[in-house]
Amino acid sequence: MTTTVSAYAAPSATGPLAPTTIERRDVGPRDVRIEIRYAGICHSDIHTARGEWGPVDWPIVVGHEIAGVVAEIGTEVTKHAVGDRVGVGCMVGSCRECEACRDGEEQYCTGNGTIAGMVGTYGGTDPADGRPTAGGYSQQIVVDEHFVLRIPDGLELDVAAPLLCAGITTYSPLNHWGAGPGTKVAVIGLGGLGHMAVQIAAAKGCEVTVLSQSLKKQEDGLRLGASAYHATSDPDTFRQLAGSFDLIINTVSANLDLDAHMGLLRRNGTLVEVGAPENPMSVRAFSLIPARRSLAGSNIGGIAETQEMLDFCAEHGIAAQVEVIRAEQVNEAWERVVASDVRYRFVIDTSTLPTAPAPVS
Ligand code: NAP
Ligand code: ZN
Ligand code: ZN
Repeated sequence: MTTTVSAYAAPSATGPLAPTTIERRDVGPRDVRIEIRYAGICHSDIHTARGEWGPVDWPIVVGHEIAGVVAEIGTEVTKHAVGDRVGVGCMVGSCRECEACRDGEEQYCTGNGTIAGMVGTYGGTDPADGRPTAGGYSQQIVVDEHFVLRIPDGLELDVAAPLLCAGITTYSPLNHWGAGPGTKVAVIGLGGLGHMAVQIAAAKGCEVTVLSQSLKKQEDGLRLGASAYHATSDPDTFRQLAGSFDLIINTVSANLDLDAHMGLLRRNGTLVEVGAPENPMSVRAFSLIPARRSLAGSNIGGIAETQEMLDFCAEHGIAAQVEVIRAEQVNEAWERVVASDVRYRFVIDTSTLPTAPAPVS
């Protein structure tokens, strides 16, 4: 037995998202059924559904910034109770046995022979029933309790949803590279991830600079906690800020001139790539060698770290700045994300999903 729920799916790499229905499995002993209230729109949803990272099984229901309320729990569930406010991010499974999993870094799971690695909230294979996983642009989801996060009381569900990806993806590298008081951090791109990076880095006591394509969002950047804001379209920016930063978090969804941006790092500085553009990146060896600079990457964050991030945000009064939309506005919202016209995260109110949808043909 399964439960049929309303959802929005991308029918192909190019077709607009449309209403459909999907099946959610019955709650197993360690599962939690969540009534989804809000689903954030991450640029990764768009890269994935449009096949920019490679082909996927269309139609696909994306969405990995999920906030809702527990509707049902399995007999062995201890972490959550019916009525709890909870979230689900980019993962719904991992082997739970490999070194990464044991270290609480399930996002780097290397598998155990049965489960190959981290199971994505969409586009993966559900270890519970072998069917493709489907994401948060839907009314309900059933998830192993380990991958379900508690949303602290101080956070409303709509502004908490984006923390489940944008929040943790920026919190984790700031933690890993030891950002704190005295660290000079630059955030490239003031979109969904970028606006969380600025707030989290500022709350950690870092000195934060935003590097954006233009100065259009300068006022917002400063209000979010940056102390400086520069346009990368102005060549003077690169001259003025050369050798300035300990840590640069690159959240840009498109290819940048990495050599120019590496030049902004101080000796021993690191540029962390969290943006995941479609095309390969290039960097000159001599952008790294002279000042012993590093170019690194980082993938979301582990479950324990995600809970820590949610608690940190609640404690510091940090949340996403959102524009809540109806389900039928999702195609327009995607176009606006691609055009960098988002302040700073679109969130779908899933109560606006159709109640009696037609299946996608
Ligand atoms: P977003 O809201 O679209 O933000 C990206 C920002 O990058 C834009 O707001 C824009 O900022 C800047 N930008 C876009 N196109 C640009 C271009 N051609 N040249 C220069 N700057 C440009 O996207 P997001 O949801 O934050 O996601 C950002 C990237 O991170 C995506 O590639 C996504 O797939 C990836 N991601 C990675 C992880 C991970 O675990 N590593 C997790 C989530 C997302 P300005 O207008 O300020 O210039
Ligand atoms: Zn995401
Ligand atoms: Zn593992």
